[in-house]
Amino acid sequence: MSMPPDSSPRPDVVSVVAPAYNEAENLENLYERVRRSLESDGESFQLLIVDNGSDDTTLDVLRKLSAKDERVQFVSLSRNFGHQGAIIAGLEMASGNPIISMDADLQHPPEVLPEMLKHWKEGAEIVFTLKRKDRSRSLARKLVDWGFYALLSRLSGLQLESGQSDFRLLDRRALLAITGMNERPKFLRGLTKWIGYRQVTIDYDVEPRRAGRSKFNFRQLFRLGLDGVLSFSVLPLRLFTLSGVVVASGAFLYGAFVVASGVYAYISGYPERIQPGWATVATSIIFFGGIQLIGIGLLGEYLGRVYDQVKERPAYLIRERSKALRRED
Ligand code: UDP
Ligand code: MG
Repeated sequence: MSMPPDSSPRPDVVSVVAPAYNEAENLENLYERVRRSLESDGESFQLLIVDNGSDDTTLDVLRKLSAKDERVQFVSLSRNFGHQGAIIAGLEMASGNPIISMDADLQHPPEVLPEMLKHWKEGAEIVFTLKRKDRSRSLARKLVDWGFYALLSRLSGLQLESGQSDFRLLDRRALLAITGMNERPKFLRGLTKWIGYRQVTIDYDVEPRRAGRSKFNFRQLFRLGLDGVLSFSVLPLRLFTLSGVVVASGAFLYGAFVVASGVYAYISGYPERIQPGWATVATSIIFFGGIQLIGIGLLGEYLGRVYDQVKERPAYLIRERSKALRRED
């Protein structure tokens, strides 16, 4: 079971949720720009920052900001629960409507928020964003991104565009649909498409990171991608069965051919033409061995996820939260 949103809903407040892992140098700026952007739009807001087990001064900065302006709230997780884990924590604890998630490093410009809110007021329940141009990423990473979303769209039957991120607006109804799901890990980029509702997409220009370093390496991206594929498709398993059938029938036909030609050589009086064929045997054993190992690995990936799900461990644990987010329990 996932936790219900923490504080009671405040429909007159816009929640902005940002995960922060070692972002001490960016938070003051984030606060200023979010505040300016929303105040100029006449919005009351809650800026909820999730300290994702940072080991710099992120938590100190958050305590200070929240003491200065009570619209800034924070939760500090007991360790790093990954980018997605931190976003989920923030989404579950946010009390406003709508709820906007964005990075804390200012690559997602807060000046876009009024445009997102405009679409929400016009009836959109989800506002997605796409990066217009992005000089912060290499061509290789863009290609991988594009290939991945093209593949995942095919596999899942959802329209997942390249250039997306977790910069998006959710109406509370859409948010509850997502936090209420018992599925884990939650691949937000797929789930937010999957739930439906009225969806709108807008473009924005990604900004360069203001301070600090990117926390994503290839391994984490690969894991996020794998989560996406495995939680939205059983096609890899099916492909595997299919290739097993093809390879096995091929092997059967080849075997029949070898036996037939052996028998033919024997009755036509040339038994010495029968080849010993060790190479064939060795190759096919290795080949099938390989295929079986891949298959077992793939089964293991899905099974491992079932196992994680059955354990029902919480998606994150909280060590500390700002005053407004404390509950009497
Ligand atoms: N982040 C996080 N936990 C992590 C990795 C990243 O909370 O384990 C946060 C990070 O502080 C930032 C956002 O997620 O606010 C996006 O991360 P980053 O800027 O490193 O990713 P990139 O923009 O390079 O893809
Ligand atoms: Mg970034």
